[in-house]
Amino acid sequence: MHTCLSCGAEYDDAAGVVRRCADCGSRTLSDDELRVWENIRDDLAHETFVAVRVLDGPADRAMLSAILEDEGVPFVVHGGDAFGNALSGSGGVLLVAEDAETKARGLLAQYDAAVVPGDFAEQ
Ligand SMILES: [Zn+2]
Repeated sequence: MHTCLSCGAEYDDAAGVVRRCADCGSRTLSDDELRVWENIRDDLAHETFVAVRVLDGPADRAMLSAILEDEGVPFVVHGGDAFGNALSGSGGVLLVAEDAETKARGLLAQYDAAVVPGDFAEQ
């Protein structure tokens, strides 16, 4: 079974796996993927996380994860690897605990300043 994330339409895998909803064109998720999705959604419902960044891809995700871990900022990445790129159109969405948002945004600003194009050529 695959289920559409947007409209909830269900597709029986026996008739061929449907990865994109015929009704609305959204990504469909397998039962396993749907469970992961629901867990993430439930976690987010219990804690207050705010989206601070759409990640560019796996490298961006790895770098920022390392920085936030070092600084003790609670964070989650929503989408990205677990679902491929379809959910967010990117490497995922970075969310941080609301009470650490200011600190996280400061770290992101430092990160952006450190990776502006041109730096690599000078190093
Ligand atoms: Zn749909």
